[in-house]
Amino acid sequence: MSTARTEERLLAALRSGRWAVSGAHTGEESFENTFAQRFAEFVGTAHAVPTCNGSAALTIAIEALGVGAGDEVLVPGLTWVACASAVLRVGAVPVLVDVEPDTLCMSVAAAEAAITPRTRLIMPVHVYGSAVDMDAMTALAGRHGIPVLEDCSHVHGARWRGRRLGSLGQVGAFSLQQTKLLTSGEGGVAVTSDPEIHDLLSRKRADGRRRRVGTPVGELELEELPGVQGYNYCMSEFNAAVALDGLDRLDGENARRRVAMRRLDDLLAEVEGASPLSRPAGLTEDAAYQYCVRLAPAVFGQNCKHVVAEALSRELGLHVEPIDSALTDNVLYQPLASGWTKASAERARLLDPRRFRLPVAEREGEHCVLLPHRMFLAPPEDIALVADALRRVRDQLVRV
Ligand SMILES: *Cc1c(COP(=O)(O)O)cnc(C)c1O
Repeated sequence: MSTARTEERLLAALRSGRWAVSGAHTGEESFENTFAQRFAEFVGTAHAVPTCNGSAALTIAIEALGVGAGDEVLVPGLTWVACASAVLRVGAVPVLVDVEPDTLCMSVAAAEAAITPRTRLIMPVHVYGSAVDMDAMTALAGRHGIPVLEDCSHVHGARWRGRRLGSLGQVGAFSLQQTKLLTSGEGGVAVTSDPEIHDLLSRKRADGRRRRVGTPVGELELEELPGVQGYNYCMSEFNAAVALDGLDRLDGENARRRVAMRRLDDLLAEVEGASPLSRPAGLTEDAAYQYCVRLAPAVFGQNCKHVVAEALSRELGLHVEPIDSALTDNVLYQPLASGWTKASAERARLLDPRRFRLPVAEREGEHCVLLPHRMFLAPPEDIALVADALRRVRDQLVRV
């Protein structure tokens, strides 16, 4: 959603003449740095580093946490492909871990069972308005001395025991892609409270350059120093201007959506074969990028996600998506078609997603549909239409 304020900020970025981190300093604070400060404040971390997308935020975070070629990273088996492909991108091995049936988030017990002497990072991903049990997860990581990178791309603004998700691991990463709760079209941001990790994140996203405080007008706000291998993953001034504006509205919109989502939780109790995800007690304020409806195969049919998503989209006149399939069987996760398998036959074996057995992710990945977050800004009364539509879809399927 954009407002008149979004347009003003975007025009201000355009007219400033500075469009990039690597543009000349105008004497004004860049939108990018203003967004970094505001977002860190929002999450409650000391620092934030904006990036060109969420995948880039994950990539610099993985590298900044010391992960590299051959290291193992625990990734949930039911998530957007970028979580695993960011691990591939640094030459590490994604180890796919099963999820909890009631939250669809990474199972801490399964994560523990997957730890080996080569595990260098755990990447819990909070999905569909629920969350990983962060009490158990941080305890597990602490016992093994393994850092935690939280992927919060679904849950901007949610809180675990009062603290924002993203501030509980060593680094938190967020996508600001078009469909997310906070968006700049394309964009991402990584947060941390560790000054050394912050310096690495910040330099890795700007080809190794460091922000130069007190830069004279007309010069670059970046200085070249040795010691860090970086890439250009910077967020543009236009994206930062748009993201800043959404941040002002985020808590208010999340609160409105939460009321409507609780209403749907209650209504689903009356729809045979449909159920919401559950939320762990530690998740004191939830936020959901998509509302996940779980469908019982006995009522809606085996592998019913496509049929139900299509029928429900027709009934509601908006796009209802089938959930992404588990990464063990996902058309977008094709590590064997990447150059990383050239290193050795052993490497190809390690990257093969089919070596993992994820019964819960594989089942749930075919039996859920996702409602877009924007519909939960509608008046809460309208939510009854969703439950009615689901009932009609069920009746149609039963009749066939
Ligand atoms: C959207 C998303 C990403 C990737 O973000 P991009 O901005 O598209 O690169 C990563 N993880 C999760 C869980 C996501 O939903």
